[in-house]
Order: sequence, then structure tokens, then C-alpha cells
Amino acid sequence: MVALTQNRKVVVLGSTGSIGVSTLDLFEQAGVAVEILALTAGRNVAKLAEQALRWRPRVAVIDDETGLPELRERLAGSGIEARAGAAAVTEAAAMGADWVMSAIVGAAGLAPTLAAARTGAVIALANKESLVCAGPALLRIAREAGGSVIPVDSEHSAIFQVLQRDCIDRVSRLILTASGGPFRTWDKAAMALATPEQAVAHPNWSMGAKISVDSATMMNKGLEMIEASYLFDTPQERIDVVIHPQSVIHSLVEYTDGSTLAQMGPPDMRSPISCAFSWPQRLSWPAQRLDLAAYGQLTFEEPDLDRFPSIAIAREALRLGGGAPAAMNAANEVAVAAFLDRQIGFLDIAGAVAGTLERMNGLGNLADNDADALDSAMMTDASARRIAAEVVGQVRRSN
Ligand code: NAD
Ligand code: MG
Repeated sequence: MVALTQNRKVVVLGSTGSIGVSTLDLFEQAGVAVEILALTAGRNVAKLAEQALRWRPRVAVIDDETGLPELRERLAGSGIEARAGAAAVTEAAAMGADWVMSAIVGAAGLAPTLAAARTGAVIALANKESLVCAGPALLRIAREAGGSVIPVDSEHSAIFQVLQRDCIDRVSRLILTASGGPFRTWDKAAMALATPEQAVAHPNWSMGAKISVDSATMMNKGLEMIEASYLFDTPQERIDVVIHPQSVIHSLVEYTDGSTLAQMGPPDMRSPISCAFSWPQRLSWPAQRLDLAAYGQLTFEEPDLDRFPSIAIAREALRLGGGAPAAMNAANEVAVAAFLDRQIGFLDIAGAVAGTLERMNGLGNLADNDADALDSAMMTDASARRIAAEVVGQVRRSN
């Protein structure tokens, strides 16, 4: 066990995003001893440079190569190396850190997360899409390299914290809680007209645009079901979803003796990040405490699969197995981007994902794929993106 006072070498992938910023803020609040080897970002040069000047990593990497001259200029004289491009992001992930925060959004996080896994680092995994694309491969590679994957997604962090590892065969059900997102109480006609601005306005959590839309469609819960299935080696029949609008209970594990354990806390991602940083110890920082009386009531509902078909689509992808989860994820990324770009309507997102899966399954493109092999996951990702772009094009023309 690494003592919490011991200086730890850290890489933060996706440092300028919602999770990345929360990670650095937690370091500050908890006063942890870290040496940051690398900070990486997609496009936001100004924010990356500002973080680099504060945290003094050895290298700051921007994925978008056109941002390199500006990054160099902003870091001039600091002694911090400025680099750019996807390969440089992946190299930063493999610098030999003790702890790597994987917080890039989308399948773009897969290659860097795998590179980090190969070094045997502890991976704090926020980037759920990499698990959905290649979960078995990622977990196997991390295990073989002597490292570990600790979930940061609040639901999986909750399960991780209440799972009794010495009686894993006595777990009867994993129960994922879901806030229900901004459209929980909307009817279908209103949802059809929902705008990107309405979809990203999440009631409880402040997050990046893509995951906010995923929360609104509830594909986020679908992705999380797959994430839970891989992380905790549990078939989809034993994973349930319950709507819990207050987001206080982050998830539950039901045991065969009728006992159900839950993990609770105010909705603040610094809490699961803190857990992933210190596990199996605990950090001490001025976290907001849970005031149950102030909530008064915690409520629960069944998810409505008619308005939120994404949960059923994800179950089907898990049932199909092989490349289906990777294809579903890729199609969802394409459809969400098209929605944010106002090319398709809100309800078209799930339609496009289901349509892509159906086409790929019809072509026999899913079942042959080995979920444990990285190459086939990448190939599935690429072909699902092509087909999803066609499906999105058809939806646009018919709207
Ligand atoms: P975000 O959009 O706020 O941040 C994404 C980060 O990735 C940014 O730093 C961005 O610059 C970087 N990035 C984007 N595209 C990139 C690319 N192609 N190459 C390299 N870097 C790239 O997203 P977020 O809300 O912080 O979410 C990050 C991940 O964590 C997602 O997988 C999300 O599902 C997961 N997650 C987020 C939350 C949350 O509360 N925000 C909760 C649970 C899980
Ligand atoms: Mg979550």
C-alpha cells in the first residue's frame, strides 16, 4: 500500500474537462503530495497552459496539433515541454506514473488508457467509453501488468466501495441509480423538440456536453450497465436501474441474504475521484457532508423504457456480446455529435444507435468480434462510425 503522504507521480488525461478540473481541485483541497508528469487536453490551449503553469508537469500535451504554437508560446520559459497530437497524448499516458486519471471523453480515451494500463499504473477510470469499447481487454492488460482499474463513475465507485470481495458469489444484484436527467418528467412530444441547451442542463451534476446528453437520453445508464457488467463480472440480467432524482444514493449491491448495501453522498465527483486516489485508504478534505434532513425525502421510480429506450438498447448490446457494445458506443458518439450540431432531433439519437446496431448485426459485423481483442474493438468502432454517419444522414433527410 502506498502511504498517502508519499509523493505520487500522476498523469491527468483530459485535465481541462469537468473531471480533469475536479481532479486538480481535489489535489489542491486535500493538499496531496503529487508530482504531475503530464497534463493533456483536446483543444483548450489556454486552460491547459494555465493548469500547466500552476501544476508544473514535465509535459503538457494538446491533442489538436494546430494548438501547438500557442501552447509553446504560453509555456515559453517555464521549462515545461509542449507537445501535440494523439500519439503524444498516448505517450504521456505511458510516462510511468503511479496513478493515471483517465478523463478524456469518448472512445478517443481508449488508446491512452490502454497505454497507461500497460505500465501497471493505478488507473482512475472516468472514461467509461473505453471500458464499453474494450472492457475485457483493458481489464486483462491492467491485471497482467500488475496495475488496477478503479472506477470514478459515481455509480461504479459506489459499488466498488460496498462490494464484499470475500463473498462475491453472494451478490444477487447490482442496482445502478440514475437521476433521470433533465427530461425525466417530459412527455415524448416535448422530448422530440428538446434543444441541445435543454439537454445539457443537468439537474444535479455539472458535466461535459457529451455525458450530459447521454444523461438526458439515459444512454449514460446504458453505457454504465455495460461498464458495471465488465468491471464486476456480472451478467446484464443481474444489473438493474432505478431512477433516484436526488442523486444521493450512488448505487447499491444486493446480497443473497436480502441485505442491500448502498453508498451515499452529495453529488460531487471529487468524492469518487478522492476514493480512486486513496483506495483502500481515505483522504481528508473539506468535502460537503451529507445532510439527509435537508433533503427530507429520497424518491425512486422505475425507468420508462418507452421514452428512454437506450437502457434496453444497451441490454441488447450486452446480450449480443462481441463487438456490439463497441458499436453501440461509436454510434452513440456520432448521433450525440449530430444532435449537438442540430442535425438531428433528440429522440433521433436512440433511433440512430438502434438502427446502426441493427444494420451491423444484419451484416454479421458484431458476433464475430472478440471483446477481449483490442484490434477488433477498434475495427468495430470504425465501421460503426461509418454506418452511424449514414444512418444519421438518412434521419436528416427524412426530418
Ligand atoms: P469534458 O468534455 O468536460 O472533458 C473531456 C476532456 O477530454 C477535456 O479535457 C478535453 O479537452 C479532452 N478531450 C476531448 N477530446 C479529446 C481527444 N480527442 N483527445 C484528447 N483529449 C480529448 O468531459 P467530462 O464530463 O470531464 O467527462 C470525461 C469522461 O468522464 C467521460 O468519459 C465521461 O463519461 C466520464 N464521466 C464524467 C462525469 C462528470 O461528472 N463529468 C461523471 C462520470 C463519468
Ligand atoms: Mg455515472
